[in-house]
Amino acid sequence: MTPFRNGLRITQKYGEDPSYYGQFGLAGHEGLDLVPKVFNGDNQVVCIEDGEVVRDIDDPVAGKAYGNHVVVLNRATGRAWWYCHLAQNYVEGKQQIKRGEVIGEMGSTGNTNGAHLHLGLRLANINGEAINLNNGYSGFVDPLPVLTKFNDDPVEKSMDEDTKRAVANLQFYRVDPSNKDGQEGNFEGFCNRLMDRDRRFSSLVADLSVANNVINELKASNDTLASKLAKVVENPEPTTPETAEKTATNYFANLIIKILRKLGL
Ligand SMILES: [Zn+2]
Repeated sequence: MTPFRNGLRITQKYGEDPSYYGQFGLAGHEGLDLVPKVFNGDNQVVCIEDGEVVRDIDDPVAGKAYGNHVVVLNRATGRAWWYCHLAQNYVEGKQQIKRGEVIGEMGSTGNTNGAHLHLGLRLANINGEAINLNNGYSGFVDPLPVLTKFNDDPVEKSMDEDTKRAVANLQFYRVDPSNKDGQEGNFEGFCNRLMDRDRRFSSLVADLSVANNVINELKASNDTLASKLAKVVENPEPTTPETAEKTATNYFANLIIKILRKLGL
C-alpha cells in the first residue's frame, strides 16, 4: 500500500538538506516527499494504515508549514502518520479510517514549492503520546522502511482483526515468574510468543529487528527474571546507531516497564 493508488515517486527523502531545515530547528527533512508515479489526474491520497483521525486541519493558515493536514494514529502499532500539504481532506477528527480509504487530495498548502504529499511518521507510546520528540526531527522518524515493508510484507498486507488483537494483547501480556516453561505467562513463553510473532511484533515496535536481538540475548542469559527485565529497561542501547532503532528500543523498554508494573516488581 502506498499513499497513491498507482505508485509513487520520492522527491525528497528523510534527513536531506540539513542546511535548509536547520532554520526550523531540525537536523534535516523530517519526512518523505512524494508525488504520484504517473500524473494522470488522480491525485487522491489514500490511507496507508488503519487508525483514528487524531488531527484534522482544514485551514491552511492554521496548519502553518503543513497546510491542510491529517494525522492518523494506529494505537496497536504506535504509528502516527502525518499527511500534509493537502489541497483538501475528506476525513473528520476521531473518525476511524481503514487502509486504502481516501484521505484527501494532494496539494500545495502550507510551506511548499509545489504540489506533493509530505508524509511524516511519529511513534506513540501505549498511551498514544508521541515519543522521542528530541531526536532532532521533532519526533519524526523515516517512513520509508515502513512503506517498503508494507509493500513487501504479506503479513502486513493481510493484517486482519485477529492479528491486530494479538498485537494489542502483547502489550498487556502478563509475565508470571512462578509459571513453568511453555505455560502462558512464563517469561520463556513470553519470549517464544514474541519470536513466533516476530514480524507482527516487529510492527508493534516500529518494524525493527532489534527487539529480536534483545529477546535472544535475554533467552541466552542465566539471569533471574527481574534482572533480565531490568537489563532491557536500564540498557536500551540499540545495536546500530540509527535513530529509528533507538526509538524502537525505547518503545520496547516502555512495554517491558508496563509488564514490570503489572508484576509489581
Ligand atoms: Zn516535506
